Amino acid sequence: MASRYDAEIDDLSGLLGDLPAYRSRQVFEGLHKNLASPQEMTNLPQDLRDLLETALPSALREVEKTVTDDGETTKWAFALDEKSAIETVLMNYRQRVTVCVSTQAGCAMGCTFCATGQGGFFRHLTVGEIVEQYIVAAREAQPRRVTNIVFMGMGEPMANYDNMMAAVNRLHHAIGISARKITISTVGIVPGIRRLTQEPLQLNLAVSLHSANDVRRNELVPMNKRYPLSALGDACMEYVETTNRRLSFEWALIDGVNDTDRDIKELVAYARPLKAHVNLIPLNPTPGYLVRGTSKERVQEFFSALNEQGIMTTVRNTRGSEIAAACGQLAVPVSFSRPPV
Ligand code: SAH
Ligand code: SF4
Repeated sequence: MASRYDAEIDDLSGLLGDLPAYRSRQVFEGLHKNLASPQEMTNLPQDLRDLLETALPSALREVEKTVTDDGETTKWAFALDEKSAIETVLMNYRQRVTVCVSTQAGCAMGCTFCATGQGGFFRHLTVGEIVEQYIVAAREAQPRRVTNIVFMGMGEPMANYDNMMAAVNRLHHAIGISARKITISTVGIVPGIRRLTQEPLQLNLAVSLHSANDVRRNELVPMNKRYPLSALGDACMEYVETTNRRLSFEWALIDGVNDTDRDIKELVAYARPLKAHVNLIPLNPTPGYLVRGTSKERVQEFFSALNEQGIMTTVRNTRGSEIAAACGQLAVPVSFSRPPV
């Protein structure tokens, strides 16, 4: 077991020496609802606290913690084992508190402009490793409560579907986060979108589109060759029609690459039938991609043109860019940057 948060409530009795049901419940609630460390669970006998600490260790070893935006953004780098590390980001806003979690150490999708993609894939995270990121961030956020969770950290959530969805269910059922405040972001894995369509929870889906033209999207998002825009559009349409849930497209604006008038035209035509919301992200710099982000003025023009044509659009502010915590800048620390041999 990688993390003490890998255990479901029914596993606890066996793992902790035949606990009575009420003790299992105390442990489970202590971990999830009270965000407690074993020694903070003063309703448990000391020997059980000690056992919990040693038999079910914490999976995340903090190797770095950086704070920026006047204390409102915190980024952690956690080591999982000798070979892999991940990052987690906490963002305090006036109206909401958002945690951005990773689902994989690294990513195999290879999007050219993304630091995680540039670093390659290490391994999938377990359900406990995903949930524990939330726990650490939620402890830090206190006395405020985390309201939103975005699966937008390292990795492709749909490539680790079962563990991702088990974590979503835990965050919703055991911790009490509203499904409507949980967003799954995907590069556009069609079978994953189809599975998500069948899930009973009212989750939000974000698709990282970046181009509505197959030639250009093939270059930016290599997965487009496997799941081209027509197949992706069909899956999105089925998702919207079946679930009535909101779909959004993410679009990192790259100077001269996907910010032209033609891009606006193509995006409007693609987004309109799906009633999709568009999230514009000014490109964050990464070491492996040298094209600049779109200028502020052009971002504004792009934004206005979409809105004028009836596409609901927002520009995402890039929290934490100076500590490389912004979208697409998450990469493993240098000491963990080589794939396992
Ligand atoms: N793998 C998933 C979720 C993690 S990436 C996905 O791709 O959707 C989170 C978001 O950051 C995605 O929309 C991604 O396209 C975007 N992103 C990646 N690199 C970026 C960069 N350099 N600047 C801005 N956004 C970027
Ligand atoms: Fe992976 Fe998402 Fe980065 Fe693409 S943008 S490489 S899918 S993390």
